[in-house]
Amino acid sequence: MNIGIVGLGLIGGSLGLDILAANKNLYEEGFFLDELNYVWGLSRSMETCRYASEISAVNIAAVDINDLPNHNYIFENTDIVVICTPIAAILPTIAALAPKFSPNVIFTDVGSVKSAIVEPASKICEQSGQRFVGSHPMAGNASQGISAAKWNLFKNRPCVVTPSADSEAVREVRSLWQSVGMNIYECSPEEHDRAVAMISHAPVMISASLIAACQQEGDAGVLKLAQNLASSGFCDTSRVGGGNPELGRLMAEYNQPALLRSLQTYQHSLQEVISLIENKQWAELEAFLANTQRDRAFYMD
Ligand code: NAP
Repeated sequence: MNIGIVGLGLIGGSLGLDILAANKNLYEEGFFLDELNYVWGLSRSMETCRYASEISAVNIAAVDINDLPNHNYIFENTDIVVICTPIAAILPTIAALAPKFSPNVIFTDVGSVKSAIVEPASKICEQSGQRFVGSHPMAGNASQGISAAKWNLFKNRPCVVTPSADSEAVREVRSLWQSVGMNIYECSPEEHDRAVAMISHAPVMISASLIAACQQEGDAGVLKLAQNLASSGFCDTSRVGGGNPELGRLMAEYNQPALLRSLQTYQHSLQEVISLIENKQWAELEAFLANTQRDRAFYMD
């Protein structure tokens, strides 16, 4: 397969590392050199492109696709282009690239929102004879950029693929993510956005608010003590609030209605807890916590 990765950061770089690492196994299984995966990359900075080549996240990379020495071959022979830029750059990137490729190339993206992307991206691709299927690999960490890229980031993690009338394109995109160990879930962009608002986007805002609330402690001695005493519990609950600020902002901007609905539901839950504590309803509070202890299991592997 010839695969393009645009945006060589945590997600794009990690994808390239796994795809190229798989070449070794394919080679040992008897595949010929020209049957192995070839990965070209594009990113905003030349330094990122160089680093991505050095760590074998790509075979070749450049800032401008026309600067790739084999760009005419790439336009004719790419199978899938995976857009791994920040959300705001996904549609403009597809619009700029799609017309350059020969027809039928499949474009996919990794954006953390799907409603704002899938329909317009499909239309853009259609106009130049390309195909689009949305993806969201649910894997990541608090780091960003190519230096955060790592092997096996996607292994055993869920990945959403959005449906399309083009079943062959959907199959190709599913098999790309399966090849790096992901478990595929197919759902509409709207269902995706509602579900991720609950389990990914709202937790970022809640976790960030927890950190901000702690920082409001007015007694400098108590604040310092709290910072020194913070251990595994605070580390778990604050982790996603300490992640990439640009990503958090874009999740909110591009998934506003679903995120607001989740945060308002959370606000009701928190208010319920506050009133149980205010009214010293200890038995009811314990019952509430027993329910959450039981229900947490539904969200774990
Ligand atoms: P990231 O580490 O910041 O990587 C994005 C990379 O894209 C940057 O390193 C930048 O590379 C490059 N870039 C920015 N604008 C570009 C443009 N216009 N054209 C080409 N390259 C550009 O971010 P990420 O965490 O990988 O997130 C990328 C995408 O994955 C986002 O759409 C996000 O919603 C999605 N996602 C993220 C996570 C997560 O937990 N992080 C999980 C699932 C999906 P340079 O170094 O060259 O500037």
